[in-house]
Amino acid sequence: MKFLTASALCCVLAAQPVQAQKAKAPSGAPNTSAILTALDAKADHYADVAKQIWGFAEVGYMEVKSTALLQSELKGAGFTIMAGVAGEPTAFVAEYGSGKPVIALLGEFDALPGLSQDATPLRNPLVAGGAGHGCGHHLFGTASTAAAIALKSWMQANHVKGTLRMIGTPAEEGGSGKVYMVRDGLFNDVDAVIAWHPGDENSIIGERTMANISGKFRFKGVAAHAAMSPERGRSALDGVEVMNVMTNYLREHIPDGTRIHYVITDGGRAPNVVPDDAEVYYYVRHVDMEVVNDVWSRVVNAAKGAAMGTGTSYELALTGSVYSLLPNETLAKVQQKMLERVGGYSMTPTERAFAELLQQSPQFTPQPLANTALIKPLTIGAAGSASTDVGDVSWVVPTVQLSAATWVPGTAAHSWQAVAAGGMSLGSKGMMVAAKTMALTGAELFQSPATIATAKAELVTRRGADFTYRTVLGTQKPPLDYRKGSVPAANK
Ligand SMILES: [Zn+2]
Repeated sequence: MKFLTASALCCVLAAQPVQAQKAKAPSGAPNTSAILTALDAKADHYADVAKQIWGFAEVGYMEVKSTALLQSELKGAGFTIMAGVAGEPTAFVAEYGSGKPVIALLGEFDALPGLSQDATPLRNPLVAGGAGHGCGHHLFGTASTAAAIALKSWMQANHVKGTLRMIGTPAEEGGSGKVYMVRDGLFNDVDAVIAWHPGDENSIIGERTMANISGKFRFKGVAAHAAMSPERGRSALDGVEVMNVMTNYLREHIPDGTRIHYVITDGGRAPNVVPDDAEVYYYVRHVDMEVVNDVWSRVVNAAKGAAMGTGTSYELALTGSVYSLLPNETLAKVQQKMLERVGGYSMTPTERAFAELLQQSPQFTPQPLANTALIKPLTIGAAGSASTDVGDVSWVVPTVQLSAATWVPGTAAHSWQAVAAGGMSLGSKGMMVAAKTMALTGAELFQSPATIATAKAELVTRRGADFTYRTVLGTQKPPLDYRKGSVPAANK
């Protein structure tokens, strides 16, 4: 997922410094300070876990070592593990406890192709053309695992009733990993979902993200010598190019706020051979899923027309479909309170030197380094520009997410600068802010059935009482090979 940088968020008041506050447990309620103490004691250990996953840099549905490491952490802490859920070999559910409420944390761990980068403030790929954690998902999965383990210990010590789950969710980046989990009913008995995302600020993610459908159009033609017998050929690349021309004309006649982007993933091999095989990979986004469905059907029509006109044929493989993120103000207020209690962090002189050099990179829009110590005020419902498969979860279960400052202020997601900071202490410090906030939020919800009931009522109001969850992915299996060929052998 790609979030806005701090500078791009509108309607947000000036951030205020918030000091970490001492726990104030209501009389009779178990004190949650032990959660913070436990996480502080294991901060170095979790920094090491995250750094290992950062080094694995495994892309969607290929996160074999990353998922094994997180599962071993959870198993060692006494969770029961169900691996390979929803037809995804690298997905898992770790569970502790029994009965209601059921509260789930989400943890991602996939990397992005082409973003390999050392933990240095200057561009330096570790593996040429290799993958890297440009969205910080190594921190995401590790923080959620840490939070789950700390929360379990607290539940055990205080005889708190309920079920705690940590759900390992692969292939967020374009693979729609969570969508298959929602479709297959993995969230049916879950009462609330707590998650986070790495970023360049400490805040609750209250924005609506964009719904998104993506897929690969593979055109088939007839190969021929491009000079001696071109009349015998039918170019699959022509099909792709004509489709793109039609789609580009479509842009004038679609609702504002729609985004269409594509890359040609296969355009033939040699100019003197009419290509019989070519492929283009499309995304369509808008904050409203209905608009995305409509524009997507028109893009598919462009493929049909292009195939007809060029004497080719095509096959469509859907790679993803996600809903927009539905905010939940009830849960967001709880998480905001916990984030303010945890507080941000200050940079050491070494971290500051790293950040100042990184902020000098080309096209970088620096933000104040002091932002890592601040907590932004809560805002709900602003339009966001990114997409995430957490969106589908948020339409079936009340869901809350925070952003924690794991990157140098001003860093855009999906950049080498995000990989760099995520591989050093700034990443792990921000990760612990997230872990603490999630664990405290979970503890609060386990003690407050009324809050969960209000959050559920809010969900019904926001999505409409007659809402039924559907995905255009239908009954298809997860595209386990959608990243095939996207990383060099040295990265595997
Ligand atoms: Zn992400």
